[in-house]
Amino acid sequence: MTPAQLRSYQLPTTYMELKAFVKDLAEKCEWLNYEIIGHSVEGREILAVRAMAADLPASDNRLRILLFSQQHGNEQSSKEAALLLMANIANGKHPEWLRNIELWIVPQVNPDASEVNKRRNAQNLDLNRDHIMLESPEVQALHALFHRVMPHVTIDVHEYQPYRPSWAEFGGFKFFDVQVGILTNPNIASNIKNYSYRVALPAIENRLLEAGFSFHNYLIGPAPHQGLTRFSTVDIDDGRQGFGILGGMSFIYEGINGRDNFAHNLERRTISQTLALESLIDVLHNDRRKVKRMVENSRERLIQGRLRRVAIRMDHFRDSNPLLLPLISSRTQRDTLAVVENFHPIVRPTHTIDAPAGYLIPKSDSMLVGLLQRHNIKMTNDFQNLNRVYGYMIIQNRIVVAEAADNAFPLVQRVRITKAVSPLEYFFVPLNQLKSAFIVLTLEPESQVGLAQYRQFQHLFVEGKMFPILRAE
Ligand SMILES: [Zn+2]
Repeated sequence: MTPAQLRSYQLPTTYMELKAFVKDLAEKCEWLNYEIIGHSVEGREILAVRAMAADLPASDNRLRILLFSQQHGNEQSSKEAALLLMANIANGKHPEWLRNIELWIVPQVNPDASEVNKRRNAQNLDLNRDHIMLESPEVQALHALFHRVMPHVTIDVHEYQPYRPSWAEFGGFKFFDVQVGILTNPNIASNIKNYSYRVALPAIENRLLEAGFSFHNYLIGPAPHQGLTRFSTVDIDDGRQGFGILGGMSFIYEGINGRDNFAHNLERRTISQTLALESLIDVLHNDRRKVKRMVENSRERLIQGRLRRVAIRMDHFRDSNPLLLPLISSRTQRDTLAVVENFHPIVRPTHTIDAPAGYLIPKSDSMLVGLLQRHNIKMTNDFQNLNRVYGYMIIQNRIVVAEAADNAFPLVQRVRITKAVSPLEYFFVPLNQLKSAFIVLTLEPESQVGLAQYRQFQHLFVEGKMFPILRAE
């Protein structure tokens, strides 16, 4: 039993209890191992547990899954579900997984924030917006684990807050026990997105409904009268798309938070999240060969530099049908059905470019070089195959697109560079690597998810000057 279970979910598991629980479980159970993958800002251990049959060697034939919880400290059931899942595995509930899957569970990415039930870490960073900048030791530890294990599937577990004033104003609350979101960025392989949408989500939904829980494809955003109702952000700085853009299959889980943002209704929250996780892992286990093949093909394409076109700007578009959204009326507390006309479920590219052979990065910019190093991005001094080099003149900084106001980008003009570029001044970043789509999306100046979005890199965008990163073709 988990620590919270032992006290009937009156309070969530503390950090000290979590540590003791994980270590005890690993000691008693031969198919669970744990390791410390890093430390939080305040020095707490970040633990990862591996579930895999002990008598079998690690093998390339297994489907590898990485589940991580509680990037946001005030989303307690994400941690509790990870712990209950471990307890269930220890109790022998999933013997078939142990032979065919290598499952990694990080139950608590953000222990400092969990202890004080806050969203952000001790640097006041939102960890689920830190997957490009990698400024927090917590997300750095998670990425280091990702690169070591190279999971085919990642599952990022959260909670959403249903009791928002904007929804009360709209007339009803979303009270789904669990919402699950899939990859939506247009640069991600369509077979991975189709499988997630047509096979994985219905499998989770069916199991939850059978057990008396409710489910929805994850709807983000404000209440429908205040903005676009849509399935996803398209950014790549979060845990779902940040790992998904590296060719894998990736999900975000959003369980329902409590009225007090803490322990209210914790038992139901934990059980529904756990069941939703188990049903996804079950369907992935059944289709493990297929899932593995899809992901390996998609990664092979990146590693071999076969990326041709990259969508660097995109937007949400309307479907022809309105969304019929089941809500609980804020007036009568009864089930009601809202018709949402302003529903934008489709993501389409609005600006697509040819992928270059690579980029030239000024060696003198330590911020930029440091960022690429934190991402394990390959940088070379090999300039042999550069045919043409282009730069971008920054005509005007920060054009704001009305529909996506936080995704400003500069107006640029492409310029052919005729003077020789030297390996003394530049690193060459080739595109034949796992991060190739990530590199283009981050380094192209006009990308709506690129460096233009970050205060740390505003020095690259000076009106009337050249953008310091060059494009090699
Ligand atoms: Zn969250």
